[in-house]
Amino acid sequence: MTLSAAASAREILTRLHDVMASRSAAQAKLNSVVNIIGEALHSEVCSIYLLREGVLELFATRGLAQEAVHVTKLALGEGLVGTIAEDVETLNLDEAAAHPDFAYRPETGEEAFHSFAGVPIIRKERAVGVLAVQHAESRKYEGVEIEALQTVAMVLSELIANAGLVDEAGGGSARVQSTATARVTGFKLVDGMAVGAAVFHQPRITIEHTVAEDTEAERHRVYAAFDKMREQIDRMTSQAEFGVGGEHEEILETYKMFAYDEGWGRRINEAIDSGLTAEAAIERVQQRTRMRMREIDDPLLRDRMHDLEDLSNRLLRIVSGQLGTAAQMGLRQDSILIARNLGPAELLEYDRRRLKGVVLEEGSLTAHVTIVARAMGVPVLGRVKDIRRLIAEGDRLLLDVSEDTLVIRPTSAMEEAFEAKLLVTQKRRAAFAALKGEVPVTKDGQRITVMVNAGLRDDVAALDLTGADGIGLFRTEFQFLISATLPQREGQRRLYRDVLDAAGDRPVTFRTVDIGGDKALPYLDHDENGDEENPAMGWRALRLALDREGLMKVQARALLEAAAGRTLSVMFPMVSEPWEFDEARTLFESQRTWLEARGHKLPLHVRYGAMLEVPALAEVLDILLPKLDFLSIGTNDLTQFLFAADRAHPRLAVRYDWLSPSILRFLRRVTAEANAAGVPIAVCGEMGGRPLEAMALIGLGIDRLSITPAAVGPIKAMVRSLDRAAVTQAMAQLLAKPPANLRSALRDWAEAQQVELA
Ligand code: PEP
Ligand code: MG
Repeated sequence: MTLSAAASAREILTRLHDVMASRSAAQAKLNSVVNIIGEALHSEVCSIYLLREGVLELFATRGLAQEAVHVTKLALGEGLVGTIAEDVETLNLDEAAAHPDFAYRPETGEEAFHSFAGVPIIRKERAVGVLAVQHAESRKYEGVEIEALQTVAMVLSELIANAGLVDEAGGGSARVQSTATARVTGFKLVDGMAVGAAVFHQPRITIEHTVAEDTEAERHRVYAAFDKMREQIDRMTSQAEFGVGGEHEEILETYKMFAYDEGWGRRINEAIDSGLTAEAAIERVQQRTRMRMREIDDPLLRDRMHDLEDLSNRLLRIVSGQLGTAAQMGLRQDSILIARNLGPAELLEYDRRRLKGVVLEEGSLTAHVTIVARAMGVPVLGRVKDIRRLIAEGDRLLLDVSEDTLVIRPTSAMEEAFEAKLLVTQKRRAAFAALKGEVPVTKDGQRITVMVNAGLRDDVAALDLTGADGIGLFRTEFQFLISATLPQREGQRRLYRDVLDAAGDRPVTFRTVDIGGDKALPYLDHDENGDEENPAMGWRALRLALDREGLMKVQARALLEAAAGRTLSVMFPMVSEPWEFDEARTLFESQRTWLEARGHKLPLHVRYGAMLEVPALAEVLDILLPKLDFLSIGTNDLTQFLFAADRAHPRLAVRYDWLSPSILRFLRRVTAEANAAGVPIAVCGEMGGRPLEAMALIGLGIDRLSITPAAVGPIKAMVRSLDRAAVTQAMAQLLAKPPANLRSALRDWAEAQQVELA
């Protein structure tokens, strides 16, 4: 924008500022606005159309017939005004009637005008109205005039939002659809259905004030924000130098390039010159870039655009001081959370009563955030592309993970169909819940122990709801993940005791902390905790606990005290060699002696187990098994190590199948050895919660499963319809000479045998 353009926008803005500050009614303000703009741009006509009840209504005009106000209405996509709103794009025409979308409205008397320019009035990246000017003579408006119009449109969006004149996205039940319905697909991470309003984990900033009181002050705010942002980016880049490979580095370099781009800073400065606040200026420049970029059909550039959006949002957050995530601000209604990706701790920060579903751009089946969501009973759809572009904050969403779909801004017919399906699913769930009193016994009389995985205090309720046999895996690190500081012994002891109390005489197996990997703790030293190239194979779980004896001792004491007078079952994660198990056990025993010497009441009995997650351990079972009271296979980690495939990698999420000969043969061997040694063996990974997989495991000799609570009903139903001898024989045959597709062969077998697979 040239200086004169900035000056002319500024003049308009100064006058608009007075109008907005006045106490007159919204309609009177709009009437003044069209006069000010018309005069300033020497246009015979200036009109404002606003989106109300899904259509664009002429709200104020100078130059068109006044009788047309509140009478002329255009649908989205209809006429020039409707096209501008639908495409969120500017039109600048010397001959309006010659445009293919032109729709003539006789009541307006607009036939007298030839040239036409219109800009969308944008709120939350969506058009909520159109500001248009028209001229009798046939000429295109100049670039600077269009710039001025766009700047004014920004200010108008503040005015009309404050006055509540338009359909606000997500403005409660009375909300009227403002743009089209869309359906997107993704990848099933946690099954289920949910209805709610879209909430961005990193919310977009809403700009409260657009017109500056003091231009110099605004300029300083932007300078300071730029400094802070550059500092952040520099820190990110320098930290990433350690062990971070090509792609990541390239992204950061581009970030850096944008962050230091002088053109960007200059454009924001010019927007401030025109009278905008710092926030509005950043957004104004971003809108302009967005519009330009949209015309370029180049995926690479589109990616860069994403970076620029990220940076622009970062700058906006800094300047506006709105720094938190949606969790910190609190959910106000039933919500579906949208994020690129999330850590388990970030997810746990949300209010469980209002968080109904999660949609991720990335995500994988056994990433801990997925496991946490499963434990919370929150459906998750992963790997949905472009969600940020398609969804606006507050949009109504229907999430149906069973169909891998997300419907954005549904029609009422879609809502009805969804409700109907939800009802059927709830009935099915009720049917499974009715199984809670039924015992999981195969048709030929083999009792299968079905336990649940848990990690939060509330999870123990699942025992009564599902009728499970106990808790086969209590992930103690969840308590560490949800607190801002390292949990103290007293806090830990209280949780463990509550869990044991709630379980009554049903057994509970506590797993000592498995932190590290994708469960990094913000309060552990960065050096020791972060920046690992392969965190899943890094300093985590028992490895970390044995090095940080203090942490393990506190937990040991808390567990021993909590289980006073009962049996304590404890197991260690990521045991890789037998001596690690020995050390962990010795540490617990020394704490037992310590407590005993001080007269504390102790558990009647302590059972020690190991998790088999690292394949190397399978080669030394002859050494390990005699030391164990039980063994539990963590198939989530085990498969990632067997296949050398990161369990959290979105691209690898479906590449390797649990029902592959390599995994099943491996599990068969381990199971046979444990059974021969008389050591109880269980599977506690996600695999055991899937009916077809669980059926295969039973066929391998596994008769103890610890699974996600929602799976207990379906697994019980499967067990009760299964003949164990028959599945054992089928597995022996299938693994002797595996077919190309073992999964479909197993499914065919199950169907032929009428095994219930939910
Ligand atoms: C596993 O790895 O299978 C397991 C049960 O532990 P986690 O998922 O917590 O790593
Ligand atoms: Mg594990």
